Order: sequence, then structure tokens, then C-alpha cells
Amino acid sequence: MTTPQSAASETGDPLLLTPGPLTTSATVKQAMLHDYGSRDDYFIDLNARVLDRLVAIVNGEGTHVAVPLQGSGTFVVEAMIGCFVPTTGKLLLCINGAYGKRIAKICDYYKRQYVVQESAEDQPVDPVLIDKTLESDDDITHVAVVHTETTSGILNPVEKISAVVEKHSRSLLIDSMSAFGAMPLDVKEVRFDAVVASSNKCLEGAPGLGFCIAREEALSQTQGNSPSLSLDLYDQWQAMQKNRQWRFTPPTHVLLAFDQALNEFDQEGGVTGRGGRYRDNCVVLVEGMRDMGFRTLLPDELQAPNIVTFHMPENDSFDFDRFYDAMRAQGYVIYPGKLTVADSFRMGCIGRLGQADMRGALAAVRYALDQFGIAGKIT
Ligand SMILES: *Cc1c(COP(=O)(O)O)cnc(C)c1O
Repeated sequence: MTTPQSAASETGDPLLLTPGPLTTSATVKQAMLHDYGSRDDYFIDLNARVLDRLVAIVNGEGTHVAVPLQGSGTFVVEAMIGCFVPTTGKLLLCINGAYGKRIAKICDYYKRQYVVQESAEDQPVDPVLIDKTLESDDDITHVAVVHTETTSGILNPVEKISAVVEKHSRSLLIDSMSAFGAMPLDVKEVRFDAVVASSNKCLEGAPGLGFCIAREEALSQTQGNSPSLSLDLYDQWQAMQKNRQWRFTPPTHVLLAFDQALNEFDQEGGVTGRGGRYRDNCVVLVEGMRDMGFRTLLPDELQAPNIVTFHMPENDSFDFDRFYDAMRAQGYVIYPGKLTVADSFRMGCIGRLGQADMRGALAAVRYALDQFGIAGKIT
């Protein structure tokens, strides 16, 4: 077997089969080759346009607003918790992975009261249990859930969860970081007060920007809640309402790239097109890996088409660090597992990747196994 040619993105970089940062298109990166001042009319209009487009993705025109925030995704998750859950509030936190646990940590930092409903990393959040807890605890004001837990790739039933939360007239907060733009989320089907996501996951912009899409009525009641100035979404929103500008230095290049990324998102057919490409990627990946004997953590019906967790093979000839290096040498960056239930590794299907890239990755896996002397199926 000859050494395969190394795979590369449009700009010659390794392909990122990871939970983020993700591969972006050449045109998204090119959009960043300009400097704008924060008060520049072109930039101000672009900023407003980007925010309107985000609201439109959830069909929230007229009822919802988008508030942007500098930083990685966690910054805006933290901002959402600090802003929406007041010191007098109490959060029901649904956890089935590391990102849910991170919200608990944020609550600890902010001294917000919370109770946890935890399920295993390979089990979806159970709306029936939420119903019972809300029934028995009137003090709970908010419920927080992660849309797709990137720890495992599991899809949580946000529509059913929102129905339960609405039934009890509580407020729903969603971390949709690794789902937004690829999994359907419509304000008419999922009733939420706030959803957060970022520029560089399924929307394929450059990293560095988070955003919160909030029900305007709910956001307007959050004044003074945030214990942090720079993460105060209410203050950011109010300032932007007044003069259309960011409070502090805006990530101008990231916004230029994001506007272009949203053009490409629209060209692809929005959530349907983007989600469809990821689903195709996921099917190719899972089928190919299973053919080689790898086992997925999740059954297909629980798998979100963004990242796939594979059990670590028990074969003595298989060593993850060597496997990682062999994949990297062929131009594919994969990711270690983050599970507590099982030893695992992950391969992502999001970012600027298509079925040909997934097939290339499968060929690279096959080549790596051959190098390890593993012929046929791995066990
Ligand atoms: C990526 C991600 C985040 C944010 O992570 P950062 O590293 O701060 O960008 C939060 N929640 C989920 C579910 C994610 O996938």
C-alpha cells in the first residue's frame, strides 16, 4: 500500500474532524482581509444585518432579538446564565455530558441556586422527569438544557422539553452551540427565553463570537441581573439599541467572516441544506467505520449528525496516540473522547466538509489500521 496523499482544505490546511474550531471555506477566510472601524457605516450595517439573519434562522422576527458577544461559546453560555437567572431564581439543570456540567460550574461561580437532573452520557434528557420535578418544586424558575451534547453527539428532545417547561410556566434556556444552524429550532415549536450558539460551529464562520437569541420580553426583564459587566447581555443589547454599536472593541474581522458564512449558509438552503449535508457526512462516516469493526457509542436514533463517538477498540495493536498521529499525517484531525462512561474517541462531521472528505478520512483510518498490522475488522 502506498502512502496516501495528505488531505487538505481549500486553503491547504488539515481537515478538522473535531467539535471545534472547524474547517471554514476559503471565501469565509477571505472576507476577513479588511479593517473596519467600529463606527464605520459599512460595519454597523453589516453588524445589524448579521443579527437580523440570526433571528430569522429561528423564525423569531418581531418577538426575538439577537445579542452578540465577544469570546468563545462558553462566554455566551455564562452570559446567558448570569443574565437570565436572577439571584432569587433557581435553575433546573439537565446534564448528560460535559457541557451541562460546565453550566453547573458557572452557577457555582455565580452563586446561582440550582438542582441537577443527571442522566448517563448515552441517555437523552428525559422530559417526563423534568415534568415531575417542576410539579413538585415551585421555586424552580428556569430550566437549562444542552441541545446536542457534543461530549457524545447525543440529541436532546428540546421540543418536548419546551412543552413541559411551558406547561409549568417556567423559563427555558438552551445551549444550542453544536446544533444551531443544522438542527431545526423554530420559536413556534420550541418555546425558549434564550438560546446561545457561536460563529464557528454549524454556521461555519471564524471562531471568536457568540450570540444569544432571546425572547425580547424576557430579555427586557433582565436588567441588573448580570454579575459581570463584559458578559452583561442586557447592557450589550441596550447599548446596541441606542447607537447600533458594540460597547467594547467589536471582533470586526469575525463579523465580516460571519456575514459571508451566512451567505453560504443561505446558498446551501439554510438549516435544511446544512443539516442535510452533515447528516450525509455522518451516515458515510458511521457506515464506513462500522464496516471496519468500530462501534458507535450511540444507537442511530440518538445520534445528532455533528460528532460521532466511537468506542476505543480493545485490540492491543491499537493505540490512540499513534492513531491520532497517523490520521494527522494524512491531513485529518480527530479528537479524543470526553466520556466518563467509556474509553472513546470522536470524529466530527461538521464544518466545511463533504462526503468525499468523509470517504477520505475512512481511507486514512484503513491505512492507519494497516500500518498497525490490523487486517480485516478491528475488535
Ligand atoms: C463548543 C460548545 C460550547 C462552547 O465551547 P467553547 O470551547 O467555549 O467554544 C458550549 N456548549 C456546547 C454544547 C458546545 O458544543
